[in-house]
Amino acid sequence: MDLAIKLSPATEDQKTLLAKVEKEAGTSVNLCYQCGKCTAGCPAAFAMDYPPRQVIRLLQLGMIEQALQAESIWICASCETCSARCPRGVDIASLMDTMRRQALKQGKADKRVAAFNKAFLSNVKNFGKTYEAGLLLRYNLTTGQLFKDMELGLPMMIRGKVGVLPERIKAREEMKKIFERAEKLGGDE
Ligand code: SF4
Ligand code: SF4
Repeated sequence: MDLAIKLSPATEDQKTLLAKVEKEAGTSVNLCYQCGKCTAGCPAAFAMDYPPRQVIRLLQLGMIEQALQAESIWICASCETCSARCPRGVDIASLMDTMRRQALKQGKADKRVAAFNKAFLSNVKNFGKTYEAGLLLRYNLTTGQLFKDMELGLPMMIRGKVGVLPERIKAREEMKKIFERAEKLGGDE
């Protein structure tokens, strides 16, 4: 990704979107004084296009569109190390989570990421846990790569490492209620 930052004043739409993200995440990016402790402790920063400190800087500069399109928000492992280390109490992990939801809602997430997210959530909603074979099949079908992972998947199935049929948890009704509550709060499957 191009790391060059072109500065221009944030538009009203960008400001509104940032305020929404901050409210949902329960934190404020203006608290950040760019010390970099979040990036220094992040186990995934090496793989990110914008490490956590830079993601916060993008938001401070009103460049929320760029932040929503960053690969970083999908590479983040939600370990919360950054939030725990921040001397200013910025909840970066919560911001990352909120930005993932926004990116999906606005169709800014990479198509493969969105397809995997949908397949994974549908899995959990239906079975109460992940069903790896079904997850991969659905993901591969929607991304037009049916035979991807066959070489690895078949031997794993034969050895019983991956179940052929889904297992279901007992409390599936409870799981459905959790999804219904999340949908009411503005989330989607
Ligand atoms: S640790 Fe906190 S204050 Fe320091 S750069 Fe990260 S978000 Fe900003
Ligand atoms: S929550 Fe995400 S951004 Fe924060 S330290 Fe963990 S992986 Fe890095």
